[in-house]
Amino acid sequence: MSVLVIAEIDQNGLRAATRSAISAAAQLGQSVDLLLAGHELEGIASKAISIKGLGKILLADSAEYAAGLAENLAPLIVQQAAQYDTIVAAATSFGKNVLPRAAALLDVAMVSEVTQIIGPRTFVRPIYAGNLNATVSAPEGLAIITVRPTVFEAAAEEGGAAQIVHLNTTGDVAMSKLLHRDLAVSDRPELATAKTVISGGRSLGSKEAFQSTLEPLAAKLGAAIGATRAAVDSGMAPNDSQVGQTGTVIAPDLYIAFGVSGAAQHVGGIKDAKIIVAVNIDPEAPIFQVANYGLVADLFTVIPELSAALKA
Ligand SMILES: Cc1cc2nc3c(=O)[nH]c(=O)nc-3n(C[C@H](O)[C@H](O)[C@H](O)COP(=O)(O)OP(=O)(O)OC[C@H]3O[C@@H](n4cnc5c(N)ncnc54)[C@H](O)[C@@H]3O)c2cc1C
Repeated sequence: MSVLVIAEIDQNGLRAATRSAISAAAQLGQSVDLLLAGHELEGIASKAISIKGLGKILLADSAEYAAGLAENLAPLIVQQAAQYDTIVAAATSFGKNVLPRAAALLDVAMVSEVTQIIGPRTFVRPIYAGNLNATVSAPEGLAIITVRPTVFEAAAEEGGAAQIVHLNTTGDVAMSKLLHRDLAVSDRPELATAKTVISGGRSLGSKEAFQSTLEPLAAKLGAAIGATRAAVDSGMAPNDSQVGQTGTVIAPDLYIAFGVSGAAQHVGGIKDAKIIVAVNIDPEAPIFQVANYGLVADLFTVIPELSAALKA
């Protein structure tokens, strides 16, 4: 079995989610290669060769790939596909954007959000907002899958000695163009990989209250700040802070939910947290069904008290 992992890069280099995809790929095949596409990749490639478990790095270093546009990356994946049994990417916004396009071009039915690998063609994936796990089999031939990065430990950054193979560009298909990118600048850790996450819901009431209430506590805990979709939709919190089925799926050591009702779509994104703490004024709130520790209380009382206690 040979497996190709599609690398995801950002302004900080190779994303940790890609190393999780490499670990998942290692469960599938003896030979795992990485497709690294982008522009001016010398630094990233020289680090990536040390990642444990990689055979080759297929390096496509060209201006057409600089913006990570799915339209330009898909033909590159298609060009390499014949050499592989399985193509894997992390189930991030990037992976969910690029891989279905490649799958459509290759006429392959892809399997998304894999959480467990049973065999070379058999995978477990959550359905109904994580309330059920389905075991599915991909048909014979090429399998294309995205894997949930939070459930596969990232491959070690050291210990490997991959060989770099340079690829020619497949060119600009000129179907899309990156006009502008807004990068959220934050002192907080990244939501997807943070060890501690605190989150707030609609009950925070306003953007100002959301920030002024949660930010001081997050700073003390070194936590990332998450939000429910209701909080995001009402403009209290940025889009990229949404936790859940249609947001980011997280697996922190500690998750504290303040004024979050615990809708199935939210809970689907926090199930892998090691400890869930919920603070809610409603003792019947569904979040208490999944919480390890629950406190029936007003968040506007609890958060200042907790912050003060942490200061002491
Ligand atoms: C297709 C689809 C996908 C979705 N995807 C997501 C997703 O990815 N993530 C997500 O979060 N949601 C998602 N949703 C929305 C989800 O169904 C809920 O509507 C949402 O999670 C509710 O957000 P909330 O808990 O902030 O609000 P509410 O459900 O309104 O709950 C507010 C809670 O705050 C409590 N409260 C009020 N005041 C206080 C106080 N002072 N102190 C303490 N507690 C207080 C209340 O008791 C209540 O439990 C999705 C919905 C659909 C249909």
